[in-house]
Amino acid sequence: YAAKRRQLGVVLYEPSMDHRSEASLSLMSELRRAIEQQELRLYVQPKVDLLTGEVLGGEALVRWQHPQRGLVQPMQFIPFAEQTGFIRQITIWMLEAGIREMRRWQDQGHAHKLSINLSTRDLLDPDLPARVSLLLERHQVPATRLCLEITESTIMDDPQRALQTLQKLHDLGLRLSIDDFGTGYSSLAYLKRLPVDELKIDRSFVMNMERDLDDARIVQSTIGLAHHLGLSVVAEGIETDKAWALLARLGCDEGQGYGIGRPMPADQWLAWVATWQAPATEAVHLDTDFT
Ligand code: C2E
Ligand code: MG
Ligand code: MG
Ligand code: MG
Repeated sequence: YAAKRRQLGVVLYEPSMDHRSEASLSLMSELRRAIEQQELRLYVQPKVDLLTGEVLGGEALVRWQHPQRGLVQPMQFIPFAEQTGFIRQITIWMLEAGIREMRRWQDQGHAHKLSINLSTRDLLDPDLPARVSLLLERHQVPATRLCLEITESTIMDDPQRALQTLQKLHDLGLRLSIDDFGTGYSSLAYLKRLPVDELKIDRSFVMNMERDLDDARIVQSTIGLAHHLGLSVVAEGIETDKAWALLARLGCDEGQGYGIGRPMPADQWLAWVATWQAPATEAVHLDTDFT
C-alpha cells in the first residue's frame, strides 16, 4: 500500500519505508541533489504579540521545490533526513538562509526575530554552537534575535549531551524554545534544568480548546507552568479570532497560526508585515465561563 502510494507520487516518505529499498536510495540521492542544486526554500510564518498584535518575527519552515513533484512539505522528507543524517545539512542551510534573511529585515529597519527548528542530530553536533556564532557574526545579526526550537524528544534522546550543546548555544545569547510542548514525554525535572526561554504549546491543544474543555484546561495550566518557571509562552495553531481572544485572556504571550498568517516564501515577508492589521480581539465575545 505504501509502495503503491509512493509509485503514484503521493508521498515521498513513510515511516514503514525500508532503508535499503530502492525508494529509500532514490530519495537519498534526490535529497543530495536538492541541497547541491539549491532546491530548498525558506518559508516564514509570523509570530505576534497576543496583547498588542505587534509582529515580533517568524518561524523558519523548510520547503523543497522539487523539479517534478512541485513544492514538497517538510513531513515528506524531514523524518527521513533525520534518520539518514541529511538533517544536519538542512539545518545549516536553514541557519544560513534564515540569518541572511534577518539581516535583510534589519536593513529595512525591522528588529524581527526568527526561530529555527533543530533536530536531535543537531544537538549531538559539537560544532553547532561555533557555526551559529560564525554565521551571526558574518551577517552582523545580534544573537538575541535568533531563537532555536527543540522538541522534548530531541532532548530526551541523550539529555547529557543535549544539555551541553544547549548551554553553549544559550551562552551565545540566543533564545531557546521547547516546541510542541505537551506531546512528548519530557520530565519537569529536565525542563527546570534546561537553559530555555520559551515554551510553545502544541497546536493540537490550541486547535481544540474552543470545543474541548480539557484542552482549554491544559492550555491554561501550561501557560501558568511556563510563567511560574519564568518562560514566555507561544501558542501555535491559532486559526480563529476566538482562539486568539481566549489565549490573550489566559495570559499567553505570543501566537502563531493560519488565522494570523500562513507560512510564506521569505521574499514576501516584508510586504506581509506592511499590510498586517491585528483583529480587534478585545471585542470577541467568549461564551465560556471557564476563564
Ligand atoms: P513545527 O516546528 O511545530 O512547525 C509548525 C507547523 O505547524 C508548521 O507545519 C506550520 O505550517 C503548522 N501550522 C502553523 N499554524 C497552523 C495552524 O493554524 N493550523 C495548522 N493545521 N497548522 C499550522 P510545517 O511547515 O508543515 O512543518 C511541520 C514540521 O516539520 C514542523 O513543526 C517541524 O517539526 C518540521 N520542520 C519544518 N521545517 C523544519 C526545518 O527547517 N528543520 C527541522 N528540523 N524541522 C523542520
Ligand atoms: Mg517549530
Ligand atoms: Mg511546533
Ligand atoms: Mg508541530
